[in-house]
Amino acid sequence: MTHPFLDLAPLSAARFAAVEDRVARLLGTAQDVVIMQGEALLPLEGAIRGTAGPGTTALNVITGPYGQTFGDWLRDCGARVIDLTVPFHTAVTAEQIREAFAEHPEIDFVSLVHAEAATGNTNPVAEIGEVVREHGALFYLDAVASIGAEPVLPDAWGVDLCVIGAQKAMGGPAGVSAVSVSERAWARMAANPGAPRRSYLSLLDWRERWIEGGRRALPHAPAQLEMLALEACVERIEAEGPEVVMARHRGAALATRAGAVALGGGLEPYVHEERDAAPVATTLRTPAGVEASEVVARALASDAALPLAAGGGALAKEMIRVNHYGKDATAGAVRGSLAALGAALAEKGLTVDVEAALRAVDDTITA
Ligand SMILES: *Cc1c(COP(=O)(O)O)cnc(C)c1O
Repeated sequence: MTHPFLDLAPLSAARFAAVEDRVARLLGTAQDVVIMQGEALLPLEGAIRGTAGPGTTALNVITGPYGQTFGDWLRDCGARVIDLTVPFHTAVTAEQIREAFAEHPEIDFVSLVHAEAATGNTNPVAEIGEVVREHGALFYLDAVASIGAEPVLPDAWGVDLCVIGAQKAMGGPAGVSAVSVSERAWARMAANPGAPRRSYLSLLDWRERWIEGGRRALPHAPAQLEMLALEACVERIEAEGPEVVMARHRGAALATRAGAVALGGGLEPYVHEERDAAPVATTLRTPAGVEASEVVARALASDAALPLAAGGGALAKEMIRVNHYGKDATAGAVRGSLAALGAALAEKGLTVDVEAALRAVDDTITA
């Protein structure tokens, strides 16, 4: 019996290289792109362990939960870490990065999350990249939540290590991920005695065993199901047009903000300024005394397919996440989410105007 997932032929080296080239095109990069056989945490951790060590002074920007994780890895590598924590309702500015360099000129590594699906903000990477380049530091970027939802341009922005995953705006699998690696980043790794080698975390192993061999022989059997799914999702983005896909995400984000304001009931965009709000997902703040996780549970009880979640950890009290990414970057998903949230708030006795919210969504998306 044939089954779409089973009895797959091994993925050839040529096909693997072609998927890497396709991802490089999506990123507009001439750097090496390494596709790693695991969820995005694999290249995120591998890139830090490869480049950071006891001699490193890292500026670690925290605009959400992932920044905290990066700081832990950096400290574990022996790096000196300067955390720059920014309130989750805003974004970091290039000026704040400039001030950090002025105070600590020894900074030689900067880690940043581009967009945060978990907190709904997005950071001005192009402007920050200019500052990082002026100081010659290595620039590490988590673009997992931004790729597909907004431009991600490692070469134009001077990003040395740019990590993406397919599971957010690309609508793809979570089991493979990719990182673009600049010449400077390779040099830093080669000079780092602590960089993982003979390890699943090792980017240097991939360089030695895959790239330097002309990408003719794979070091081990790739996860072919995920590779095929990654290829299919990049192909789909190319067919729809990356600009169109990004415009859908931007439209869904703007419509969610406008709709939430029109809905009332005390719901507010969590990220204060529109320019700081991520196209990939929109976070909303519930009014005092109204538990976000309870509102989300009620809304999901009416339709479990809606892209709604409460914030993680302590944020579950006050943050609602509208994950309007991938197939949910549509007016329909936003309308459904706001209508269900409106009904849940009304059940709690709050005054809402669902009709006004839906009108605001339609006006924003067709505008
Ligand atoms: C989703 C996401 C990842 C991937 O992590 P998961 O916990 O597996 O979803 C990494 N970084 C960012 C910024 C993300 O939004």
